Amino acid sequence: MRNSVIIVFVSIVLALALYINNSKSSKREIMNQDCVFCKIISGQIPSKIIEETDDIIVIKDIQPKALVHYLIIPKKHIANIQSCTQQDQALFGSMLLMAQKLSASLAGSQEFKLISNNGASVGQSVFHIHMHFLSGSSFQKYEV
Ligand code: AMP
Ligand code: ZN
Repeated sequence: MRNSVIIVFVSIVLALALYINNSKSSKREIMNQDCVFCKIISGQIPSKIIEETDDIIVIKDIQPKALVHYLIIPKKHIANIQSCTQQDQALFGSMLLMAQKLSASLAGSQEFKLISNNGASVGQSVFHIHMHFLSGSSFQKYEV
């Protein structure tokens, strides 16, 4: 009886250790130490945060190309659409719903443009997937 209790206890401790180790390594996999957006997400570089969820961050573009220019960025480091997997499918849905949420606060027509550059030859300069949210209408809620 005493041996069984010890075996169960040791098993639980081992399972816990395995779980903690796995969650640490999966967090390492989704961060890239050399990526400017990963540094913004982890707070190492300051930015103007507009919205944040468990999976997504929305920031103001540092060099705006429109009256409203935000970047919708998943927290998981993925270089571009070419390197996505089936597992990332839901993330793209969340990014589009975030665009919908942002547009709901636009003044006027609430119309906007979404752009995603995928590859250096078409203008991608930060290799962490993102969507540019652009609009000529001002924001009622977010504009500072
Ligand atoms: P892309 O050229 O499509 O990869 O878009 C990258 C965007 O990130 C550009 O529009 C940059 O202005 C923007 N950007 C780069 N560094 C920062 C930063 N530290 N904070 C906010 N936006 C940034
Ligand atoms: Zn990154």
